[in-house]
Amino acid sequence: MTKLAIQAPSVVTLPIADSDEMFPVRRVYCIGRNYAAHAIEMGHDPDREAPFFFQKNPDNLDTSGEFPYPPKTSDVHYEIEMAVVLKTGGQNIAVSDALNHVFGYALSLDMTRRDLQGEQKKAGRPWEIGKAFERSAPIGKIHTVEAVGHLDTGRVELQVNGEIKQEGDLNQMIWKVPEMISYLSDYFELAAGDVILSGTPAGVGPIVKGDVMQVSVEGLGSMSIPVV
Ligand code: MN
Repeated sequence: MTKLAIQAPSVVTLPIADSDEMFPVRRVYCIGRNYAAHAIEMGHDPDREAPFFFQKNPDNLDTSGEFPYPPKTSDVHYEIEMAVVLKTGGQNIAVSDALNHVFGYALSLDMTRRDLQGEQKKAGRPWEIGKAFERSAPIGKIHTVEAVGHLDTGRVELQVNGEIKQEGDLNQMIWKVPEMISYLSDYFELAAGDVILSGTPAGVGPIVKGDVMQVSVEGLGSMSIPVV
């Protein structure tokens, strides 16, 4: 038996709707600029630039139901996203086979320290300090494929204090779920426990302490997340 020098870090687990089982997380991939209108609002041409990936850490996922305003920033933005979670993986997965690897879907947020991300972009540096901070990815319960099927269409909406800020439809994604799984698997070995945040529609913007974010994706329900 392996003798550990320090206490083993705990495995991050996510709740599954209508189940007493938990989903253990291995990696978190995030796709950027996957909705044309959001690519345009961020100053990019969606016809010229393909979507791309970055990562967050498994323990950035947060199921507490609230979002603590993070340090070292004064411009934190919401980005509503659908999370895709995998039950199996592999390399060079064909688009036609990709959905067979999906365990389920969840509501999530890719919270972003936009000021820090902007500085890093300008300097050509990595984005982690803008993206991969503590509790930067609030996430809801996982809805299994058995329960909800595969989601390729459906309204995506984020409100702040009752006012609609982001709205779109899953069918507006530039890269559909099978394509993003296939593409990622050409560069990385995907595996059970991987989580993919699938990008955000237009309308991203700032929140402040005291705001309440209400997020919903058709088929995955809704959740309300106060900024504390
Ligand atoms: Mn995002």
